[in-house]
Amino acid sequence: MTIDAVVAGAGIWGSTVARRLADEGRKVLVVERRDAVGGNVRCEDSGGIEIHVYGSHIFHTHLPDVWKFVNRFVSFNGYQHKVLARFGGKTYFLPLGLALINKFFGVELSPSEVADFMSDEKHSSAIFDAFFRGYTSKQWGRPPEEIDPSIIKRVPVRSNYDINYFNDYWQGIPSDGYNSLFANLLDHPNIEVRCSTAFRLDNGVFKAGADVLPDVPVFYSGPIDELFGFKFGSLPWRTLRFEREELAVRDFQGTSVVNYTEASIPYTRIHEFKHYHPERKAVMDEARTVIMREYSAQWKEGDEPYYPVETEESLALLARYREEAAKLPNLRIGGRLGEYKYYDMDNSVASALGPIF
Ligand SMILES: Cc1cc2nc3c(=O)[nH]c(=O)nc-3n(C[C@H](O)[C@H](O)[C@H](O)COP(=O)(O)OP(=O)(O)OC[C@H]3O[C@@H](n4cnc5c(N)ncnc54)[C@H](O)[C@@H]3O)c2cc1C
Repeated sequence: MTIDAVVAGAGIWGSTVARRLADEGRKVLVVERRDAVGGNVRCEDSGGIEIHVYGSHIFHTHLPDVWKFVNRFVSFNGYQHKVLARFGGKTYFLPLGLALINKFFGVELSPSEVADFMSDEKHSSAIFDAFFRGYTSKQWGRPPEEIDPSIIKRVPVRSNYDINYFNDYWQGIPSDGYNSLFANLLDHPNIEVRCSTAFRLDNGVFKAGADVLPDVPVFYSGPIDELFGFKFGSLPWRTLRFEREELAVRDFQGTSVVNYTEASIPYTRIHEFKHYHPERKAVMDEARTVIMREYSAQWKEGDEPYYPVETEESLALLARYREEAAKLPNLRIGGRLGEYKYYDMDNSVASALGPIF
């Protein structure tokens, strides 16, 4: 196949770019260094339970074009995400709203009383200490004392019993699992996918594995610092470690995600995947479940990068890498690793469908 463009990385950004170019009539070579496509949204099937290998992923958006685009490839099951928080041996509904506040303080506030109640420093500090201080310190690897209590002022308080975690109009999980989204996105006569093939810059020459690539636009969604051999240093990331466990019980925690907010508990949350597909009745009824504990840690070379640590220094380093990238006229950089930015899936799709030339 003659190639008109190369896409490096078959996560949701790269796969959307590839599909868009293919729909426009261009022949696209997609190279993915892992042995499968899907990036961090990839799942593994365990007897009908979809394991979100890189942590729970819920598709949610308020962007009509993005919702229309993904619905060309999969249908969604209507799952509505709720997150619970465990603190002091009790379980509460997040986000911060009437359900949590009333249970935590043992009161019965009405919607019109919430703002006033939470403006009392005593109440906001108690909420901060219980639900934010320990969790944030684990997530970002800082001692609890260093977590700035002023963050509580920026946390939106809902004055109702809405326990839907996201505010977006559309949400759900692909009924056949996320892998079907990627299989369908990349199923096009103009797209060739090569897995276990890394894209790299070798002395100014673009290569895929050992092959020199033709002189065509490259859409790269790997880490920007790695592309340039970390020559100015590594951009800092938080990484995650997951511990998976299969249990011979029908239901371990009664919901898909529970956050553990105390600093003394080493993990940040537990995922229980069968709850993402309540429509799979037979799987739901089985006396078997898969859970995954999530631990957060400082990234080091060789670890999977998850969350960018945006500081003045890291953004200055990023700017230097961007200057290098701008010297390569055929290179376009995108996605969470390329842009060094936390993106939800819908933002990744929107960016891939937006101005990329
Ligand atoms: C723990 C966690 C939970 C999340 N939950 C949600 C959620 O609930 N909802 C939501 O909308 N978003 C969620 N996100 C965000 C979501 O994961 C990202 O929006 C999405 O993965 C970004 O896609 P991407 O294509 O930019 O990156 P990735 O998914 O990382 O894909 C990049 C791909 O490029 C490949 N690659 C890298 N370097 C090279 C190279 N040199 N050559 C070839 N291939 C290469 C990688 O192997 C990877 O497959 C979550 C993120 C995290 C960290």
